[in-house]
Amino acid sequence: MRECPNCSKELVPFEFARVQLEACPQCGGLWFDADEMKRAKAAGDDAWAMLDAGIPARSPAAVAAVEQRKPGKKCPACQAPMRPYRFLATSDVWLDECEACGGHWVDDGELAKMQAFLVHSRKADEKVPAEAVAAMAGLAAQARMSQERATAVTAVCRGLMTAVAGPRW
Ligand SMILES: [Zn+2]
Ligand SMILES: [Zn+2]
Repeated sequence: MRECPNCSKELVPFEFARVQLEACPQCGGLWFDADEMKRAKAAGDDAWAMLDAGIPARSPAAVAAVEQRKPGKKCPACQAPMRPYRFLATSDVWLDECEACGGHWVDDGELAKMQAFLVHSRKADEKVPAEAVAAMAGLAAQARMSQERATAVTAVCRGLMTAVAGPRW
């Protein structure tokens, strides 16, 4: 029997996108064994948000249990203390990872935030190359212009030299 690390309720197994997951009936937290988070995500771009939306609403007591996040939650699978970490290092979503068995605990509502963060950072990723491309194009245009200017200057010089070397009187 696996217990919720927040409220010690027995986790309820269910299937999502052919992945066996477990949820806490009280606080809506989810347990993912080793690679299940990735496998659930493989179901589609909005898989995490769908999964989050599918978890029944939590009770006020459960909300309180999640709010008082105690550090060192115990892994529901192997009882080892879990390590809290930030999703993708820079988001404000905190997850718990069990380094002993590789499982992850995700509190209710966090999956949707993770999804939003992913979409946001993907947009940011796309923006950078676009700006870089524009900057490169700008530089290339500048280089071309200065080359044209150099050619023009050379032509003027040549004209002057011809003029200087021209007929004397
Ligand atoms: Zn719970
Ligand atoms: Zn574990």
